[in-house]
Amino acid sequence: MAPAPITPPGLFPAIPPPVLGLLARLWAAGQAGYVVGGSLRDVLLGREPADWDLATDARPDRMLEIFPGAVYENRFGTVAVREAGEVYEITTFRSDHDYADFRRPHRIEFGDSIELDLARRDFTVNAIAWGAEAGKPAAAGTPAAAGKPAAAGKPAAAGSGSSAPTPRLVDPFGGQADVSARLLRAVGDPVARFEEDALRMIRAVRLATTLGFALEPATRAAIEARAELAARLSGERIAAELEKLLAAEVPSTGLDMLARTGLLAVVLPELAAEHGIRQNKVAGEDLWRHTLRTVDAVPVGRPVVRLAALLHDIGKPATLADGHFPGHQSAGATMAAAVMTRLRMPRSVAERVVHLVRNHMFPYQAEWGDPGVRRFIVRIGEDALDDLFLLRAADNAGSGGGADPLLDELRRRVDEQLAAQVALDLSRLAVNGQDLISELGMTPGPGLGHVLDELLERILADPTLNERPTLLLLAQSMLADEG
Ligand code: ATP
Ligand code: MG
Repeated sequence: MAPAPITPPGLFPAIPPPVLGLLARLWAAGQAGYVVGGSLRDVLLGREPADWDLATDARPDRMLEIFPGAVYENRFGTVAVREAGEVYEITTFRSDHDYADFRRPHRIEFGDSIELDLARRDFTVNAIAWGAEAGKPAAAGTPAAAGKPAAAGKPAAAGSGSSAPTPRLVDPFGGQADVSARLLRAVGDPVARFEEDALRMIRAVRLATTLGFALEPATRAAIEARAELAARLSGERIAAELEKLLAAEVPSTGLDMLARTGLLAVVLPELAAEHGIRQNKVAGEDLWRHTLRTVDAVPVGRPVVRLAALLHDIGKPATLADGHFPGHQSAGATMAAAVMTRLRMPRSVAERVVHLVRNHMFPYQAEWGDPGVRRFIVRIGEDALDDLFLLRAADNAGSGGGADPLLDELRRRVDEQLAAQVALDLSRLAVNGQDLISELGMTPGPGLGHVLDELLERILADPTLNERPTLLLLAQSMLADEG
């Protein structure tokens, strides 16, 4: 059963001293201060918040006075404050206007009321606040108190002589009840809210997945009705949500929700195309189901491998011929690269994922000799081996298979070679280009590189050859052969 929300006084122990300290400084300076958004939602759920969201009626320049050394981060009113070695973001109450093109607001307006600030937020569970209006100023007429209008329609802080007011929970949209019911519900009219900012639809799926919530029916219906608006979103914003979704305990729940609501067909049509593609793995299951199983089988905490699992068979729909998928791994590598470019993923991530997709079908036979195992290591690259073995094991699990003894054997043989520290790249060759120049009179150029590559090939076949005199003799005979 869902845990009951904690009552306001019980929140105190869950809010860490640095955050309480920041609130106290805002109150003492005559400003409102609240913990708000996802962090308060997580506190109510008994989860550790990823970050702390604070909100205040203080304008950014006022915050810079209250917190010397703070940094004004962006035009949305967010100021970063360093406290006890951590950076906290405090945002001025605001309302958002003029959403153009179904994206972020073009105009924001700073406000004085926490209620108005909560109304601009996406989901009821993200639109709860805990905190207070200003405390009583230490001395009447201090600059902190001067010129600051009281928040509209709100009682003055209950600070009976001290400067610390009594915090309260502000929950105008029934967020606590939705936390208890584990429901993700848009604030206000869901269609209108998704038309303002289409990212909220993807956030809904992502949050439902990571929190283990259901989509409230009208919220779900609105996503289904307006899914096509997600086509206007920037790649970066989609990628940030996808990354968080893939980090969920069971990402398939959310990926499937993306598919069923129609969002997948808009943001990742290449993957939506996997739906209904038959393959003879798990009986009665299509390629999309196989992909979902594969993603789930990759351990949490391996984001690159999870992304590779999501994209590993992306080349199959396009290469399907006669019930087979010839060359799907290289077609898939090209498609995966295009997807990640569109989503503006970091190049280093994209390169690793493309490499995994391209190589996930690697063949292995017990008959391989040790040179074959060493060539495999060189082809895959030492840094990618772990990821590739994880992906292959997940792919097997996604096909309904258990542990593959052959895969375990290859892993063991790879580890054996790595432990023996045999030369696997030019840096561990007992001669280098300079040696070939000074000892054999070679000149720099492609010929030199060719000889070095050939020497590496020889020592992959037989590591005992990796000694300077031997390699120099070998190089000499290669040159003689070439004549
Ligand atoms: P997480 O646990 O991943 O941090 P979160 O809900 O805190 O989830 P953030 O991106 O940290 O997500 O946003 C903080 C808060 O800002 C949200 O809880 C919500 O109140 C508000 N918010 C974020 N994005 C939007 C949006 N697109 N539209 C409206 N409100 C938003
Ligand atoms: Mg957050």
